[in-house]
Amino acid sequence: MPIASVTQLKLSGQHVLLRCDFNVPLADRTISDTGRIDASLPTIRYVMEQGGIAVLCSHLGRPKERTPALSLKPVADYLSEVLARKVALAPDCIGEVTGRMISALKPGDALLLENLRFHAEEEANDRDFAHELARGKQAYLNDAFGTAHRAHASTVGVTAFVAERAAGFLMMKELDALRAVTENPARPSVAIMGGAKVSDKIGVIRNLLTKVDAILIGGAMAYTFLKARGIVTGRSRVEEDKLELARELVAEAERKGVRMVLPSDHVVASAPEAGALTRTVTDIPGDLMGLDIGPTTIEQFKSEIARAKTVVWNGPLGFFELPEFAHGTLAVGEALANADGVKSIIGGGDTAAAVAHAPWASRFTHISTGGGATLEYLEGRVLPGVKALES
Ligand code: AMP
Repeated sequence: MPIASVTQLKLSGQHVLLRCDFNVPLADRTISDTGRIDASLPTIRYVMEQGGIAVLCSHLGRPKERTPALSLKPVADYLSEVLARKVALAPDCIGEVTGRMISALKPGDALLLENLRFHAEEEANDRDFAHELARGKQAYLNDAFGTAHRAHASTVGVTAFVAERAAGFLMMKELDALRAVTENPARPSVAIMGGAKVSDKIGVIRNLLTKVDAILIGGAMAYTFLKARGIVTGRSRVEEDKLELARELVAEAERKGVRMVLPSDHVVASAPEAGALTRTVTDIPGDLMGLDIGPTTIEQFKSEIARAKTVVWNGPLGFFELPEFAHGTLAVGEALANADGVKSIIGGGDTAAAVAHAPWASRFTHISTGGGATLEYLEGRVLPGVKALES
């Protein structure tokens, strides 16, 4: 069913509850990466410019109770700075005092509500709490793609109590990017999968096998696939209890005519440690572990990318936190960013962290702000926060 975009809503003079994902990393109450806030600025600015009254809300961290360390105050300060206009922080997300602050706002104003998760009712999707959250707002916008896989009061429950609901610009952009992978992707279409465990990504691999022409596997998860094919993996990280499953996925790929490309050479060491002595090998010695894809594999992945029209990538291709083992991830990332005529969609979480600060990162078609939400979408699951926006 269709989802309305923010541009379809009449905002002028309306109180708009705007659910954002301001769950930013904090170091000593200072925001260390403002990316998630910046990603929602177009929607916030648009609401204000249209003469709407922007009532912003978000969760931050996982508080068990109200705790000053997880107050959204640093976010309110940052918003005031970048919007060049005071964005006050309400003492709570519901209640009388907050209600009075909202009533005092004028068209074009913005107010930030305090951390939604200071109330356990938020994650419980409590109906009365959702009703309170909606009080005094005529419209609801959701821009929090990163939380769309959770049925919480601010992502699902609240939609029952507002006259109009729509997706913000960020939410639309995220959904458009992922649809380009899952709905009639431009072919050839390629998935690059990496990261620690096969078990985390079984659903994604299964679903993508019905969408892509080739799947390139790197990272630790490649070793479970290699071992399942009878290739020696030394002390590489292998999920022994997933070998049978890996065999099934290999067979499924064959049945569907999807090429599965596994690493043919590896950067190995005795442990993932800074300063470790590294070697590049095709056969992994018994006492060493594979910690990155090798140069031949990098070239193989690059040639697949050069032929592709759509590439979706989830999971680093090596132990990227250490520079010794980051080369594969960065070399493939750079080739993908610079590939002509390729739609490149980067899954959130670790993949985004691995490439986001590279000078070429801005050349990807899209870097998702969602980790879990992106994975669930790629598994083919319906995201409750997206479903709730359908008209
Ligand atoms: P994930 O959260 O599943 O995307 O996994 C990311 C983690 O996988 C990162 O912390 C990487 O360091 C780790 N990783 C990637 N490749 C390897 C490898 N070959 N051996 C051990 N860990 C790896």
